[in-house]
Amino acid sequence: MIKKLLTTFIASFCITATFAQQLQTPEQFLGYKLGEHFTPHYRVVEYFKYVASAAKNIKLQQFGTTNEGRPQIAAFIASADNISRLDEIRHNNLRLAGIESGTASANAPAITYLSYNVHGNEPASSEAAMWVLYDLVNPNNTKVQAELRNMVVIIDPCLNPDGRERYVNFYNSVVGAAPNANPTAREHLEPWPGGRVNHYYFDLNRDWAWQAQKEMQARVALYNQWLPQIHVDFHEQGYNNPYYFAPAAEPYHKDITQWQRDFQVTIGKNNAKHFDANGWMYFTKQEFDLLYPSYGDTYPLYNGSIGMTYEQGGIGAGLAVVTATGDTLTLAQRIAHHHETSMATIEVVAANSQRVVSEFKKFYDNSRQNPPGQFKTYVIKNDNNEKVEQLAKLLNRNGIKFGYGLANKSVTGYNYFSGADERYTVGTNDLVVNAYQPKSVLLHVLLEPKTFIPDSATYDITAWSLPYAYGLKAYGLKESYQPANASWSVVKPAALSNTKAYAYVSAWQSIADVRFLSALLKQGVKVRYSQEPFEAGGKKFTAGSLLITRAGNDRPDFDRMITQIAADLGHELTPLSTGFVDKGSDIGSFDIRYIKKPRIALVSGDGINAEAMGEVWHFMEQQIGYPVTLIRYQDLNRLKLADYDVIVLPDGRYNDLATDNLQKWVSDGGKLIAMENAVASLVDKKGFDIKAKEDKKSDKPDAKAKPQKRIYADRNRDALRSSIPGAIFKVNMDNTHPLGYGFPKYYYTLKLSEDIYEPLGEDDWSVGTIDNKAYVAGFAGFLTKQKLTSGMLMGVQGLGRGSVVYLADDPLFRSFWENGKLLFSNALFMVGQ
Ligand SMILES: [Zn+2]
Repeated sequence: MIKKLLTTFIASFCITATFAQQLQTPEQFLGYKLGEHFTPHYRVVEYFKYVASAAKNIKLQQFGTTNEGRPQIAAFIASADNISRLDEIRHNNLRLAGIESGTASANAPAITYLSYNVHGNEPASSEAAMWVLYDLVNPNNTKVQAELRNMVVIIDPCLNPDGRERYVNFYNSVVGAAPNANPTAREHLEPWPGGRVNHYYFDLNRDWAWQAQKEMQARVALYNQWLPQIHVDFHEQGYNNPYYFAPAAEPYHKDITQWQRDFQVTIGKNNAKHFDANGWMYFTKQEFDLLYPSYGDTYPLYNGSIGMTYEQGGIGAGLAVVTATGDTLTLAQRIAHHHETSMATIEVVAANSQRVVSEFKKFYDNSRQNPPGQFKTYVIKNDNNEKVEQLAKLLNRNGIKFGYGLANKSVTGYNYFSGADERYTVGTNDLVVNAYQPKSVLLHVLLEPKTFIPDSATYDITAWSLPYAYGLKAYGLKESYQPANASWSVVKPAALSNTKAYAYVSAWQSIADVRFLSALLKQGVKVRYSQEPFEAGGKKFTAGSLLITRAGNDRPDFDRMITQIAADLGHELTPLSTGFVDKGSDIGSFDIRYIKKPRIALVSGDGINAEAMGEVWHFMEQQIGYPVTLIRYQDLNRLKLADYDVIVLPDGRYNDLATDNLQKWVSDGGKLIAMENAVASLVDKKGFDIKAKEDKKSDKPDAKAKPQKRIYADRNRDALRSSIPGAIFKVNMDNTHPLGYGFPKYYYTLKLSEDIYEPLGEDDWSVGTIDNKAYVAGFAGFLTKQKLTSGMLMGVQGLGRGSVVYLADDPLFRSFWENGKLLFSNALFMVGQ
């Protein structure tokens, strides 16, 4: 029902200038002055459509659709000449970058991409976008028309329509006859989950590189078709703050060039000139740094653009609010500020357009000829086709070229997992990435084992190196090798047909296997798993491998049904003609366990970390397609919990967690999965064995650790929960336990907190533990490192007939920590069966 219209221009009309002169302003079109009301998204879209039909130098494109069915649109504005050859300009730009072949004209317009309202409860910027649009197409605005001779402006009026609508609906439904500027009035306090995030509660401004969300998949595809020279991401921050614009704060990633730094200053000074003239307050060089690659400023920077974040004070301000200084901040003022920086940016880019374009070309020339970093080739070992496929898709979406194989070449490279240089014979199916390519900067940022972090007070996560996140063995090579085959593609197994099997086996090592299990369970197929590794049908299978036996599934279409489900998913399946295995326990053995189809509840609502909860929700619904019931935290002690086999407690503030009901339910056979802070909330609760790790070095470890934590919170890139540390630690896994199935004897975890626990008691299982050599990469303060030297991060406790799974870290973090998805799936489907 939702159709992507990636290349369809939904309106493109050329009409006479006379008509255009009567072009309606936003006020004339909407029937109120900008700032008097919040404009619903559909009205913003209608204004853009109207302008596209009434003005002559604009094209409008719908490039995607949100989860809730709202259109994602972008307007392209240029001179009449340029708008008629827009596609040629786009191709020429890609030729300048070396992404498309052919000779590029250096005399090209600079492309400025303005992205508004990525956080739904920062709503002023979509209003400003309508004003900017009007100014750009107004033929009477001769200054702007002159500027447009040298540039193409792309306007995305709302990056997060679903979130914005959540906020706007909330505000419009609670505001009185006149807005109440008292900050304690309810109109300034959003209910859970707030409008910041999208439908699945993802922060879209943390998703540029990963594109876990469909809005970002569509947007980054469009972005990479255009590769603008300038990208501005418009936000709002706490309403007591003055306006923020470039230049950004340290730390800057080392790959950000001097030109990118310098031109941010040029743009910032021009913004300042306009703010000075109006007497408006602003600041630069503080708060908003340039490191984590998934922001609307860093992602463009790593793609050769001048990427910037602009921040107006305004979250929760409604139509008017009294600030800490006693002034009243109005929506109209917030809109005016965003409009001013939009136009000032266009002005300064127009004045420097030739230089902007030539420096963009230089960035890409340099990327192809002199890639950053010590590694010139990356080799990803192919242990599992479906796992490597996930990485291949990510590289593909980001325009990073790769291939496979080096004709069984023996090479020396840095082994990410051992941290040492080793000899390695490259397999013909291994994924090979050569760094001499246009996207080498982004490639380097995503794959370098350790990000260089200058001493600074402000951080988001500081480690994201993909081999660790994907759990894929990788080698960094100092030599440049081209892959033997130019493109990498998963060799899909030939679909089985006309088989008649005693049983079918599937591996249990990647999310593809989980998706297959989910499909089987939904069809009512009985599935078993092996508690031990075994060999059958000429293949080796690890513990956790799935077995679908004819026994228990005895129906005439058994073979056809199972092979069809596998074929639909392109999933590899091994038929066995006998239950007598070559090594290990026979298929009929007690070691082969039946997987009871779990009825799963996910706790949500007030107190719960919406983003953490949304990760589970999105994973279940959109990634593995398994049903989940969302229940409210406040109802936990009232509901009939017996309706569920599994309850997931995501991260949250469980201040008054009453566990009697839960404990009884677990004792009766339920499985409770506690994540992050939910684990901490179970410490000292009756029946739960989890204990915080004792700190022997200090009586008050928390007091000592706090300055570190405060630094993170101060960072406050965008008001709420963004200031989390994140570093990579190596966990020793007991992969004989169901929670560790499918993993080697280790797992790389992204530590977002210093939470660590004592190993569980004798009857329980401490499945994931760390020792004093666990730290791998990313920022972790001295005291934190000291604390994270020994202890438990993942464990399973038996409680009556049920079990409790403790996960101290977030295995689904922003949905890009790919390897964690199997860990979470083990907790859902394997533990306690
Ligand atoms: Zn924001």
